[in-house]
Amino acid sequence: MEELNPFKIAQKQLDEAAEIMGLDKASHAMLREPMRTLIVSIPIKMDNGETKVFTGFRVQYNDARGPTKGGIRWHPEESLDTVKALAAWMTWKTAVVDIPYGGAKGGIICNPKEMSDAEKERLARGYIRAIGRFIGPEKDIPAPDVYTTPQIMAWMMDEYSKIVGYNAPGVITGKPLSIGGSKGRADATARGGMYVLREAAKYVGLPLEENPENMHKPYEELEKLDDVIPGDNAVTVAIQGYGNAGQFAHLLITRLFKNVKVVAVSDSKGGIYSEEGLPYKKTMEVKKNTGSVINYEGVKQITNEELLELDVDILVPAALENVIRNDNAERIKAKIVLELANGPTTPEADEILHRKGCLVLPDFLANAGGVTVSYFEWVQNINGYYWEFEEVYEKLDRKMSRAFWDVINKQKEYKEKGKDIHPRTAAYIVSIERVVEAMKTRGWI
Ligand code: GLU
Repeated sequence: MEELNPFKIAQKQLDEAAEIMGLDKASHAMLREPMRTLIVSIPIKMDNGETKVFTGFRVQYNDARGPTKGGIRWHPEESLDTVKALAAWMTWKTAVVDIPYGGAKGGIICNPKEMSDAEKERLARGYIRAIGRFIGPEKDIPAPDVYTTPQIMAWMMDEYSKIVGYNAPGVITGKPLSIGGSKGRADATARGGMYVLREAAKYVGLPLEENPENMHKPYEELEKLDDVIPGDNAVTVAIQGYGNAGQFAHLLITRLFKNVKVVAVSDSKGGIYSEEGLPYKKTMEVKKNTGSVINYEGVKQITNEELLELDVDILVPAALENVIRNDNAERIKAKIVLELANGPTTPEADEILHRKGCLVLPDFLANAGGVTVSYFEWVQNINGYYWEFEEVYEKLDRKMSRAFWDVINKQKEYKEKGKDIHPRTAAYIVSIERVVEAMKTRGWI
């Protein structure tokens, strides 16, 4: 049976890269385990008068390059090992895009779909009271992730500000615009993925046609544009997951590029397929009005598993972990896999896809746009000076494109040494080198 524990997977990926690059023992040992792990109990009064005790986690993985940074997930199946893995991946993510942060992650075991707004607010505030001493704009900076929203970030920032006694917007990113959020943060994860995809298409020779005038346009303006479904020879795309990253991926991929059609999308209830392409506006309308894309009428219903195996050019996993495994990787037909989710591909599947000539754009590169704009948000908060959309997107574009070529050049460097490594390992090596250099410069190793 293939190992599916995310932290074991994260360690295995690290071990593989460490061996290939000949990493020294002490650095390897430092990077194999988190620097600090917090487990907290959070008692919350529910609307029915009962008190429920929630378990929360915050893992601060490594802060050699700067304060730790990473999102907070609210999920009924949250586990410490998942949070540890995600904290490790945040460390590699901030390093690969070269922003001055370490990595962290948080989580609360809860089901936000069954909670009222008032209960969510109490839980957000309770979590911050529990971990408040360990976070801060120069210590550890949380952000949104699975099932957490800008509103939840607002309550958390407010609670932290009350504890310290002054306004501290820089403690949390992904905030609403009215209290120090950044323009462009909402679509940043998907947007960053698009810039990486554009470079990757050039690299593999996939004829993705750019729409230069839309490349740095605010998403609100792109949302107003009508869907244009391209004719024959379009580049085809399937998107798994229709949360923040998946929805914005659908909008952006069909607006930043001219000849793309999204033929399949899915959410936790199932998926839909249309050979002519699924228009963004209509799909969003169905999702908003009915809660799931599967209620889109007149198209073929497919499962989440079938979506992954479609004959498309680009596959975008934008949901949860471990969906591409050794039992389905062989049947994946996409030429490029853009990992907007964290941890969608297992190490065995990575090998299979690499052998098949599929270019996997690893999660901590492909979805680093979110944390990169979080960094821009923090910089703006500290300076009290705010940027326009175009400035954010242009800076994001530069960071993402640079990171992609850093990874590809690392892969080439190893190829010249006779080692055929896949892009995830190359990305690991780029990141590990940066973190290790910081640890050594600080005198830890
Ligand atoms: N949760 C996002 C991620 O996994 C964003 C983290 C952040 O903005 O700090 O990258």
